[in-house]
Amino acid sequence: MGSMLCGRCKSTIQLENVRFCPFCGNPVQRRPEERRNAIVVFADISGFTDLSQKTDPGTLRQLVDKLMKRFIGTVEEHGGGVDKIIGDCIMFVFGAERSSPDDPLKTIETVEALRNDVDRFREEGNLASNSTSASRTAPYPSAS
Ligand SMILES: [Zn+2]
Repeated sequence: MGSMLCGRCKSTIQLENVRFCPFCGNPVQRRPEERRNAIVVFADISGFTDLSQKTDPGTLRQLVDKLMKRFIGTVEEHGGGVDKIIGDCIMFVFGAERSSPDDPLKTIETVEALRNDVDRFREEGNLASNSTSASRTAPYPSAS
């Protein structure tokens, strides 16, 4: 059935007959079904599996939450929409709500900014020195 991010608290909501976010009570806004071209990007942290084996699960969870909050801010600042977060992977979309000829450029700028986020995060001592963000794009089959 899939999941989405709460528009208010950014928690991941499993969409199984849910009308309100179980974390903050915000109504779940489902998009009406429609097909259009969009760019979807998956960005995750390379070396994460290695890191997860060496780090205490609680600490790791805090680390990922902190980084994902930063990632969400960066994506939204650039006009993208965060679709979901799967572990250390953020999935975001340009052109789902409305498309613009700038979408490819904005996507590249966002990916660049996410790399900077990871660099800064690492400089703050949060990640191992060999971590960086890896991104890949895929055609978006359909909105919602
Ligand atoms: Zn919520």
